[in-house]
Amino acid sequence: MTGLYIHIPFCRSRCLYCDFYSTTLPQAWQMPYVDAIAGEMELRPYAEPISTIYIGGGTPSQLTSEALHRLFHALTEHYQIDSKAEITIEANPDDVTPEWIIALKETPVNRISMGVQSLNDDILRLLHRRHTAQQAQKAVELLQGAGYSNLSLDLIYGLPNQTLELFRNDVETLLSWDISHLSAYALQYEEGTPLFVLRQEGKVKEADEELSLACYESLMDLTAKADMEHYEISNFARLGFRARHNSSYWTGQPYIGLGAGAHSYDGKQLRSYNCEDLKAYIQSIEKGESPSTTEHLDENMRYNERVMLSLRTIEGLSLTNLERDFGTARKEYCERMAKAHIQRGSIKKTGENLCLTRRSLFVSDDIISDLMV
Ligand code: SF4
Repeated sequence: MTGLYIHIPFCRSRCLYCDFYSTTLPQAWQMPYVDAIAGEMELRPYAEPISTIYIGGGTPSQLTSEALHRLFHALTEHYQIDSKAEITIEANPDDVTPEWIIALKETPVNRISMGVQSLNDDILRLLHRRHTAQQAQKAVELLQGAGYSNLSLDLIYGLPNQTLELFRNDVETLLSWDISHLSAYALQYEEGTPLFVLRQEGKVKEADEELSLACYESLMDLTAKADMEHYEISNFARLGFRARHNSSYWTGQPYIGLGAGAHSYDGKQLRSYNCEDLKAYIQSIEKGESPSTTEHLDENMRYNERVMLSLRTIEGLSLTNLERDFGTARKEYCERMAKAHIQRGSIKKTGENLCLTRRSLFVSDDIISDLMV
């Protein structure tokens, strides 16, 4: 399996909490940027069929129909796309209009991921999100009405002024919209973001851990009641609708990342990072130069990554595969470090796999780091 990620960094405005690479450069930059991505495709030929494509951002739904179609034209020109490929595009609810859907229908996109984040308009405004709850609902109706049934929505919990009741209501409402996939993340106060500064200045109050835990628990309960599979710490899917592209990251599959700020991984030891600067990216492609820097992952890094990513999934960490890929000493080290957690009930052994238990999912980072080197 090989995945392809394409980063579209354009955003109309910046949300207060966001630390993704994005830019508010005007629309005139879209075509030169898409042309540069096509140029990067030429620099990076790949013979195997592509099984998943994820167009993320930024805000890919900000692309004009011309830029969107040019992107797909380049994709089909340069890569062999599997006929059953999962092809996802991220969208902002306020961009989902009948006109946008008409443009989208001319592409092979078969999955939409939309950042709803909250259904409370005061919170959305506070975060500087551009949409309202009503726009989110309308977007879902339009997409489903146009036949896009593979629909993933994102929510955030631990938001300023968000109560447990508000969050529960968000989850219940989203589930009532008959979506196929839900991702929910705890709000992070990332250094360098305006939200981080507001917290420092005491203008927003961070949700306490008890409330965030209560939100996460109600998320697990409500999704289970709706027959959604909790297949990764932050991800829930109806049967057969797991995100195949994201799952390939968690299982260490190779992927190609195109565009400013995109990452690539060869599935073995090399990870590369494209520069996070749209103009510099275009310039280097125009000169025929690679826009990326490459990092060699040593054995410790690869072991840590395996532990971290596997334990986030419902299948957990396979000790058999760990021994196959890293040797017996590493496997035994991992078992030794897991022992106290197994006794405490925060890790369980299912066959030859180590898995986090329900009560440890919320504090997974601390537990997972105990198993690392
Ligand atoms: S729309 Fe998405 S990428 Fe753009 S600023 Fe907001 S969160 Fe970040």
